[in-house]
This record gives sequence, structure tokens and C-alpha cells, in this order.
Amino acid sequence: MSAEKRLAKLKRAIRSTGADAMLVTNFVNVSYLTGFTGDDSFLFVGADQELLITDERYTIQLGEECPDLKLVVRAPGQSIHEALAKVLKSARVRLLAVEAESVTIGLLTRLEQASPQIDIVSTSGAVEQLRMIKDRSEIAATRHAVEIAEKAFAVVRAGLRPEQTELDVANQIDQLIRLFGGSGCSFPPIVAVGERSALPHATPGNRLIGDANLVLIDWGAIGSRYMSDLTRVLVTGKISPKLEKVYEVVLKAQRRAIQAIRPGRTLHEVDAVARKIIADAGYGKYFGHGLGHGIGLEIHEAPRLAPGQKLPLAPGMIVTVEPGIYLPRWGGIRIEDDILVTKQGHEVLTNVEKELSASVVS
Ligand code: ZN
Ligand code: ZN
Repeated sequence: MSAEKRLAKLKRAIRSTGADAMLVTNFVNVSYLTGFTGDDSFLFVGADQELLITDERYTIQLGEECPDLKLVVRAPGQSIHEALAKVLKSARVRLLAVEAESVTIGLLTRLEQASPQIDIVSTSGAVEQLRMIKDRSEIAATRHAVEIAEKAFAVVRAGLRPEQTELDVANQIDQLIRLFGGSGCSFPPIVAVGERSALPHATPGNRLIGDANLVLIDWGAIGSRYMSDLTRVLVTGKISPKLEKVYEVVLKAQRRAIQAIRPGRTLHEVDAVARKIIADAGYGKYFGHGLGHGIGLEIHEAPRLAPGQKLPLAPGMIVTVEPGIYLPRWGGIRIEDDILVTKQGHEVLTNVEKELSASVVS
């Protein structure tokens, strides 16, 4: 989808609020609408014009990334709200929509002082809703991010040694992602050995890979601005009956939830499929997070696969499916893949083996 199409859709959303213009202050949203990858710049979206309010540092970059975008380059010493006040005045804005989640009270106060003639209406999620549905170029960029992450993992896996620390492995993932053409990790990798894997957001430390019989690795890459997000548990020792049982429950929950993904199904229905399997196996209280989340320009974005989310899935959404069981002082199992919702159902974008037998590293 071109920038023009995205803006046309946003303008329809702005009109539905009764506002005659919108100020986009969330830099990720600015980037989505314009292709500009810098920050400290706001996008003014009026009825018949878009203006990026920026400063001298970005003019060369903007010429390369979005040559057709009209700029308001504020002079050194001119604050962003002063530049904005001029724009609002010349565009004769009466009611301005702002993004509730990103506009600060400081900016709002200064804006009201500099432009007392305008009213402000707070909006939520207007651009995020557009971002939920990925177009072909965004899907291709996500595939690229998956490919990079998977190449990195294959190398890490092949070279995994008992004397490596969690941190060694996390650093190696980061280097490999860059080596394979990624611009970096989509989030700091989680590498958690043994009982540390019971912490869904464990930070890698000096624990040795050989200290326990499993290691949970949650990692992802940024390809061309879009992100991937995967989790696998590698078995580095004996498969105990408990490990086998917990692993199989999580795997079954994950597979069934993925099978349930198709347009029209609601987010919470898909979450419930996995949650029921885990609860029926007696581990309900050890699955304490939502089933998954959207990925895109950010690692966590709309929609959320979680209880209470009544939105139906739609073609173009890309979500993670990542059930987990976390047993204190024992460890955690989580399996995570990235799923594209298609017209017919879904496509699993990630390809790393996940059978328990395939997760054993010797
Ligand atoms: Zn993850
Ligand atoms: Zn995730």
C-alpha cells in the first residue's frame, strides 16, 4: 500500500472524529505514513495537505527517504509547537485530532497556549488500526526478518556448547542477525537456562548452557524495518517425563491455536483454544500471559491475542502464537511462531522445527 493510500484511509478516520486535521506525534506512526525513519518530527495531516514538521538535521535524509513530502523545517531556536502553531493557523484548523497515547501533557499545554483558537480532540489507535493489516511489501519485509532470524538460530544451534553462557549465546544471536543482513535484533534476545526459563522475560546472565537440561531462546530480527519474533526450547540433557509432558501440552496448544486462525475468528477465541488445552492438562495457572501479539514496525503491536479481545481476525494481520507453561523452580516451555492471516485461513511464516525430538541438541 502506498503512502497515499495509507493517508487517504487515515483522512477518512480523521473525518469520522469531526476533526479537520490530525497531528501524528508517534514516530513509528509517522514512519508508517511517510517512510521517514528518523524521529523528532511530527506529521500534520490536513484535509488537502500533509506537512512534516522537522529540523535541519533530517533534511538530507528526508530528501532520500520521502522526496515528495512537504516539509516545515523549523529554524534553530524555534520550538516544535511554535512551528506547529503557524501551520495550524495557515491551514485554518478549528478542531485538531491528537494521538492520546503519544502526545505529552507538556506539548498539549504549549499547543493550547500557542494556538488558543483551536480545539483539540483526543483519538486513540487511528494509525495503529491501519498498521494492523499488512500489505504485500510489509508481508515480504516480515518474511525477510523471519529468514534472517532463522539463519542466525541455525548457526547458534549447530554451535551450542555446554560452556557457553546465556549472555554469550544472546550476543552471538545479535552478531549473526547483523551478519545475515538484519539491522539488529527486534528485542534483546532471551536466553534462559533451566529454571530461569520460568521467567517469561528472563535477562541473559552468566548461567552456563550445560547447567541444566533445557534452554529457552526467544529472539527475532529486524529486516527492512519489519520484525520477526520466535521462541524455541532446546533440550541439552535428559528428557525427563515432566519435561516431555509439559512440552507436549504447549506444543499441542500452539498447534491447535494456529489451526484455529482464519478470518472472522475473534482474537479471544484463538487465545481460548490454547488456554483450554493448557488448563485441561492442569497447568492453567502457569500460563499467565496472552497467546500472542501483532508484529510489524514494533515488536508488540495491535492486535493482541488475549482473553477479552473481541476483534475478528482479518487477512493481512501478522500475529505471534506463543503459549507457555512456567513452573517456578523448574522452568518454562514456550513455543512461538509468526502467523499471517490469509483469505483462506493462515500461513505459518516461521519454519524452525518444533517437535520435542527435533529440539534435542547433542
Ligand atoms: Zn518472542
Ligand atoms: Zn512474542
